[in-house]
Amino acid sequence: MSGERGYIAAESADLNILLGKEKKMKPEDFVPMLCPACGDFFFELDEFEQAESDIPAPQCHSCGWIYDLNQFKKPYSVEGENELSLLEYKKWYARKKKENPDYDYWTDNYVATPHMCPVCGLYEFEDESTFDICPECGWEDDDLMEQEPDKWAGCANDLCLDDYRKRYRKLKSENPKYTFEKNGLP
Ligand SMILES: [Zn+2]
Ligand SMILES: [Zn+2]
Repeated sequence: MSGERGYIAAESADLNILLGKEKKMKPEDFVPMLCPACGDFFFELDEFEQAESDIPAPQCHSCGWIYDLNQFKKPYSVEGENELSLLEYKKWYARKKKENPDYDYWTDNYVATPHMCPVCGLYEFEDESTFDICPECGWEDDDLMEQEPDKWAGCANDLCLDDYRKRYRKLKSENPKYTFEKNGLP
């Protein structure tokens, strides 16, 4: 597990959204702690989450237990985010680990997000930030450059997304058959 715990916590919140569990909580109701179901994951908020007024209830990366202080304090309770009580959840996770010592909730539930090339719209990348090259326009897939289309020129791509699009349109209008060539940027 990486040492950047804040990053892991943010990812686990993303996973929660992915799974459609968008229960919100207030950062001030959050107490950093080791996951009580598996003991393999540390629940902690990063500075961005601390600044929000409400956040998705974080979810353990290793076992999938959803952060719920009430269920933590009442380990027999099924009232809360998790359908199983904390004690049952512990048993469930122990069984999973026995079946497969490498079991990891995040990996097991990961869903890729395919998306069309933001420049030409003609090629589909298999997931976010694959850093694959679009065979049509040469854009290198980078989620950050896509989210901030006027920044990050010279990183994964020589131009920012806005300028890359402009250049691609220009090349395409000059030559309708234009496609990116591997050895030689336009
Ligand atoms: Zn856990
Ligand atoms: Zn493209």
